[in-house]
Amino acid sequence: MGGAPRAVPSRAEIIDRYTGRTPHYWGLEAPGVVTHLPNGSRGVALTLDFCGGPGGSSFDPDLIAGLQRLRVPATLFLNARWIAGNQSLAGELAGDPLFELANHGTNHLPLSVIGNAAYGIPGTAGIGSVYDEVMANDAVLTALTGQRSRFFRPGTAYLDDVAARICHDLGLVPAGFSINGDGGATYPAGTVTTETTAAGAAAIIIAHGNRPGSGTGPGLLRALGIMTDAGTPFVTLGDAFPV
Ligand SMILES: [Zn+2]
Repeated sequence: MGGAPRAVPSRAEIIDRYTGRTPHYWGLEAPGVVTHLPNGSRGVALTLDFCGGPGGSSFDPDLIAGLQRLRVPATLFLNARWIAGNQSLAGELAGDPLFELANHGTNHLPLSVIGNAAYGIPGTAGIGSVYDEVMANDAVLTALTGQRSRFFRPGTAYLDDVAARICHDLGLVPAGFSINGDGGATYPAGTVTTETTAAGAAAIIIAHGNRPGSGTGPGLLRALGIMTDAGTPFVTLGDAFPV
C-alpha cells in the first residue's frame, strides 16, 4: 500500500487522545516495541546508542572506523544532547550510507506517562513530556539528515505501553533489543565478544558508541570480525523492517 504519509498528530492531539489512559506495562519490551527483526530474517541488526549528557557525550572513533573497515552497517541512536556536543561528527555519520540514524530522545529519559523511573533516572512525567522527549530530537534529526528517523529508543530503553503507542502515533517504531552486547558499556571486552557472538538470525544487538576506553569497542569489533568471517549478514533496522 502506498499513499501519502499520515500527518503527525500535534502535541495537543496526543494529550487529548491519551489523557486518562492507565499504563499496564513498564520495562524493556512493551507491546509494540520491536526486539527482533521480522520473522524469517536471516540478518542481525547492530544498534549503537549515543546517550549524551554529562559523561555521555564522547565518541569511540576506533569502533566507528572498525565498522567502516568491516563494512558492518549499524543503526545509530543519537540523543539530542550528544548531537549538540558533536555537531560535525553527527553530520559525518549522517552522510555515511553505512549508518542509519535513529532517535535516542531529547533528555535521555525513560518514556513514561506517569513519571516512572528506571535505574534511578526519573522518566517523563506525563503525556506532554513524552511528546517533547520524542519530538524535540525528531526535529533535530530531521534537520541533520533531511528526513525523519523511523525508530525511537528511550534513554535506559524503558517505556510503558501507552508511551509505546504514542511513539507509533508519531510515526516512530520503538526499538528494544534481544542481545545486550555491552551491559550499558560496563562489560569487559571478553564479555562483550561472548555476548555479541551469541546473536543468531533476527537478533537486535544493543551496545554503545559513546564510551571509548570501555570494553565495548574492542570486544564488539572482535565479535563482528568473527561473525562476518562466518557469513553473518548485518542489516540496519530500516533495511529489515519494510516501511
Ligand atoms: Zn542511552
